Amino acid sequence: MNNVKYKSLPDNKGFYGNFGGSFVPPMLEKALQEVAQAFQEIKNDSSFQEEYARLLKDFVGRPSPLYHARNLSKELGGAQIYFKREDLNHTGAHKINHCLGEALLAKRLGKKKVMAETGAGQHGVALATAAAVVGLECEIHMGEIDIVKQADNVKRMRLLGAKVVPVSAGGRSLKEAVDSAFGVYIQEYETTFFAIGSVVGPHPYPEMVAYFQSIIGREVRQQAQEKLGRLPDILIACVGGGSNALGLFYDFLEEESVSLVGVEPSGKGLESGKHAATLTMGKPGVLHGMQTYVLQTETGEAAQVHSIASGLDYPGIGPFHSFLKESGRVKYVSADDREAASAFVRTSLCEGIVPALESSHALAYAYRLASTLKPEQIIVVNMSGRGDKDIDFVAQEFPEIAFGLGN
Ligand SMILES: *Cc1c(COP(=O)(O)O)cnc(C)c1O
Repeated sequence: MNNVKYKSLPDNKGFYGNFGGSFVPPMLEKALQEVAQAFQEIKNDSSFQEEYARLLKDFVGRPSPLYHARNLSKELGGAQIYFKREDLNHTGAHKINHCLGEALLAKRLGKKKVMAETGAGQHGVALATAAAVVGLECEIHMGEIDIVKQADNVKRMRLLGAKVVPVSAGGRSLKEAVDSAFGVYIQEYETTFFAIGSVVGPHPYPEMVAYFQSIIGREVRQQAQEKLGRLPDILIACVGGGSNALGLFYDFLEEESVSLVGVEPSGKGLESGKHAATLTMGKPGVLHGMQTYVLQTETGEAAQVHSIASGLDYPGIGPFHSFLKESGRVKYVSADDREAASAFVRTSLCEGIVPALESSHALAYAYRLASTLKPEQIIVVNMSGRGDKDIDFVAQEFPEIAFGLGN
């Protein structure tokens, strides 16, 4: 493991080796410094920590269970598979963990409003929920095309009191929503907190979001000790921006006996160009204020990406993951749309749990791996979210898989 002190990263400029940092217009530097300082303060502030712990327990429902998937473990005949059940959190995914942390931090800074962009609406819903309970206004920018596609999430955000701002520029999707939200934030940063939805963006966001998500791995450590009397052998998580993966891995980064695997979406295949396997196929560049691996066109623009899981189709990745790839601490692999859809159906059939299509990428790789291992070995897969949102889509796009006619 070449003795890297992973948990002492990033440095005070937000760098994980060559990755990370803060590449933003000068006028935003002050706003980011304010966030960075508040973040350092809350780490040792007992009133913040008590309020955060209270919400995680009684509002989110933590700790989320560590569930032994006995049926699948038996059917595969190899390693024992456990699911970390982030799908059972209030709002149905891991995102609420960091949205609550960010909302509480915004409140502490005396801000009136949290804002963000959203693509499929999952970050928007989690943030609107956190804003409602913490008592802040919420403004979500969303491309017009996504607003039509994700009508239920839009209604839900509005019900929770968020203002959803339609973005009509360019392709009317996530990229334009980012620009639109950022444009407003530059005007309003004195009263507004920008809440990023993953371990991405300029310093301190990658570090801060990982900090709020690291509860996942700390619980896994304790639950594994209680249930099994030892640590797991392998941890597996899907990687979009990388927050659920880092949340699971963080506590184990310096634990040599535990292997860590991140699963990227290879979409319609790595050769097709229609994927979002950033670490597998990208190269270093600057995107959204950070130095990291980026899927790029020949001219260096962020490429169009694809995955059936809307939470995974991002052309960048959190800078810590770029570092963990290069240091070799985490192994990054990929699973394609079809494998994810199969894992989605298989998990539903065998375990009675409908996983998010994002999580299904991690499950697909876990099932591939488990049968090659021995029954005393233990795999923990992060069930990052529930799949209710994906049922119609899988039934439509993969009818032969969804209705059991082949696989
Ligand atoms: C958003 C999302 C992801 C991807 O985001 P990460 O930051 O990579 O974790 C994964 N799973 C679910 C259920 C999501 O909603």
